Amino acid sequence: MKLRLCHLYPELLNLYGDRGNVLILRRRAEWRGIAVEVTRLSLGDKLDPGVYDLYFLGGGPDQEQGVASSDLFQKGPWLKEAVEGGAALLAICGGYQLLGEYYRASNGETLPGVGLWAAYTEAGIKRLKGNIAIQVEELGLERPVIGFENHGGRTFLQGARPLGQVIYGDGNNGTDGTEGARYKSAIGTYLHGPLLSKNPHLADYLLELALRRRYGEVELAPLDDSLEIAVNEGVFRRFLPTKGKW
Ligand code: GLN
Repeated sequence: MKLRLCHLYPELLNLYGDRGNVLILRRRAEWRGIAVEVTRLSLGDKLDPGVYDLYFLGGGPDQEQGVASSDLFQKGPWLKEAVEGGAALLAICGGYQLLGEYYRASNGETLPGVGLWAAYTEAGIKRLKGNIAIQVEELGLERPVIGFENHGGRTFLQGARPLGQVIYGDGNNGTDGTEGARYKSAIGTYLHGPLLSKNPHLADYLLELALRRRYGEVELAPLDDSLEIAVNEGVFRRFLPTKGKW
């Protein structure tokens, strides 16, 4: 088996080491004997929607986001075609925002989005930052997805399915308890940095979604994730508020 991964705008959208997720996906696939080919595409490159099984887009500050946005807008129809055709995708923060309908920055400038998910984002006054934990139904209720968020934008879903429900932290907008968005096998999230290092269940879920495009249902052989799971549990409990339903 072979997995073809497309890393979009690696030099522009890579806040907090978001690209670590590409390394983790590659390594977890290779440990199962699955070959991985990573293609980096950026400004002006053509995107062939029939080629890749998995796309990755990191986050970035408003300036870099602005540079990437008009090119991404042009690539939008190819990216949508790819997702309609079964490709998986992970987009983080700034990348996640640009795949919605639009992002209105704090200077009032509006960046048009790809419209992969029915959601829009507008900058607020206070940044939403800190540790976050969410519950993702598809990953089982007993193991949360944990991470760190730092965004000025508030995302409001307009019919799009959220990735998960906030356990603690702010998520999409700090008010409605949703985090991220999903469309088919595409996932957008505010959880920054190499989030897959402490969420191996999410990494394998993405790999299975991606492999499904060309190989049908694939069940990945289990790995020894005891360290990763200990980190997930330790961090989750460390930042768990003492008050509240959890
Ligand atoms: N510029 C966006 C915001 O602050 C995205 C930043 C990011 O990717 N961390 O909302």
